[in-house]
Amino acid sequence: MVSYDYVMVRFGELSTKGKNKKDFIHTLFLNIKHALKDYDVKVESRFDHIYVYLNGNEYQPIIDRLQDVSGIQGLSLVARIENDIEKIKESSLELIKLEEGKTFKVKVKRSNKKFPLHSEEITRIVAPVILKNTNLKVDVHNPDILLNIEVRDEGTYIFVKTFPGAGGYPLGVAGKSMHMLSGGIDSPVAAYLMMKRGVTIECIHFASPPYTQEAVIYKLIDLLTKLNRYQPRIRLHIVPFTKIQEAIYDNAPESYCITLMRRMMYRLASRLARRRNCPVISTGESVGQVASQTLQSMATINEVTSTPVIRPCATMDKLEIIKLSKKIDTYDISIRPYEDCCTIFTPKAPKTAPKLEEAKEYEEKFDYESLINEALNNIEVKIIE
Ligand code: ATP
Ligand code: MG
Repeated sequence: MVSYDYVMVRFGELSTKGKNKKDFIHTLFLNIKHALKDYDVKVESRFDHIYVYLNGNEYQPIIDRLQDVSGIQGLSLVARIENDIEKIKESSLELIKLEEGKTFKVKVKRSNKKFPLHSEEITRIVAPVILKNTNLKVDVHNPDILLNIEVRDEGTYIFVKTFPGAGGYPLGVAGKSMHMLSGGIDSPVAAYLMMKRGVTIECIHFASPPYTQEAVIYKLIDLLTKLNRYQPRIRLHIVPFTKIQEAIYDNAPESYCITLMRRMMYRLASRLARRRNCPVISTGESVGQVASQTLQSMATINEVTSTPVIRPCATMDKLEIIKLSKKIDTYDISIRPYEDCCTIFTPKAPKTAPKLEEAKEYEEKFDYESLINEALNNIEVKIIE
């Protein structure tokens, strides 16, 4: 009896990465092991695939879990047998009989060049056995059942079912970003997109108690707990922002308050990023979404830092962002009502095209430096894992 005992993990984009490939695969191997730590399975790393030995576990929950791991292109539920043509014939027939459909195609890949038969020869041996022993017909263009046979060094894999992976790169291979997390819909989605690209994140949040409530922090923790699926341990830095925000509102015209507030956020984020060894900042900003996200606003705000700012949602429509937030299950948390430091102080008519010269002029009316240092020295850290 042959059975589907393994999940084969394919890398995709990774395969093209030359000399980094080994590190990437090792990172992915560790990430997979961590993702499956609650299951009694065995993870094996081979030259260009990783295999998960199911050890009697049901495959579906394991596939579901693996579909969240970035750096995986595709997954297949596979049977591993000996490199022996009699076994291949027998097992192919046995496994295809489990499938539903009227037509089939056999697809053979032979990476083990020591195996005495070529791919086409294997196909020409296996297909007639299926034709003779089942009611299935061959359809090479659009078969109901695609029976894959892959002859590798350690054995031959037979499989029918494949599943898409998350794509991207393994978490951790692309360094670290200081991510600005607000509790809205966009910033958790942006965080997920960073992680998917292999970037580990730390989060920075600006809190303005008593204007903002403690409930926002619980909301952030809930959001990050959802994101733990993609990054098991996330550091959240909560920056006390009240004094800075009050100083801005006391010293600048209302229409420039959002611009100055966001310039302060960027200053704080880039200093913390440097301190925490994050070469970049990331945010959930999306072009044109609100007054502070017009191109002119972004330019005036971004001027305070030379740290690169990555905005994964920059060109996405709100509906696309919402769709992703539902996929990663953060949407329902994000829409919980709460008072954000932005919403509290939202002016009636924020500038959509704030001028850099004016922003600088209004900033000069107060010495923010000591407040910035005070905020940075009073950060509260939470680890969400
Ligand atoms: P979101 O849905 O992510 O809250 P938004 O559409 O409400 O985004 P803004 O409030 O202008 O837009 O914020 C834009 C981005 O700035 C956010 O995605 C986030 O990265 C960052 N940001 C805004 N407010 C905060 C905050 N209080 N703390 C940390 N980052 C923030
Ligand atoms: Mg927001």
